[in-house]
Amino acid sequence: MTQILEIAQRHQPILSQIARPVGDIKEDSVQTLIDSLIFTAEQANGVGIAAPQVYQSQRLFIVASRPNLRYPQAPLMEPIAMINPRILAHSTEMVKDWEGCLSVADVRGLVPRYQAIAVEYYDRWGQLQKQEFTDFVARIFQHELDHLNGLLFVDRVESPDDLYTEAAYQAIHSLAD
Ligand code: ZN
Repeated sequence: MTQILEIAQRHQPILSQIARPVGDIKEDSVQTLIDSLIFTAEQANGVGIAAPQVYQSQRLFIVASRPNLRYPQAPLMEPIAMINPRILAHSTEMVKDWEGCLSVADVRGLVPRYQAIAVEYYDRWGQLQKQEFTDFVARIFQHELDHLNGLLFVDRVESPDDLYTEAAYQAIHSLAD
């Protein structure tokens, strides 16, 4: 049954562990987990969510870019489940931009990520997909892949000065607008 799942918060051990590869993608438990992850991300205004964030050690995440309260400029796409994902190649160029995380409440950070990546993953029907992503969607992919490897965006910032409270972030953005 599709349900809203509890999201693990920073310092929970599951968030710093290497997740296990998904075995049988077509298994009911995996399909239900995918539906619940999509639903949970949507309810939380997230643009992505990874299985370890809901206490499941599985190499599986959702990329669900869409404009929402937290990311008004995000491109609109159908949520995609990406299973046993890998980065095959990436740009040399890195870009620093804002990130937040459903597992790190009230913190925003400027995080360097590859501007473009070529990836492969299995979709929820078990088909191997190869795709290229740039900019915001490439950023989501790299953020979610980090979750499968036990890393959070706060581990990726170049300096503590690049971490902001949600309130400070909102203040900067209302000034910029
Ligand atoms: Zn996250």
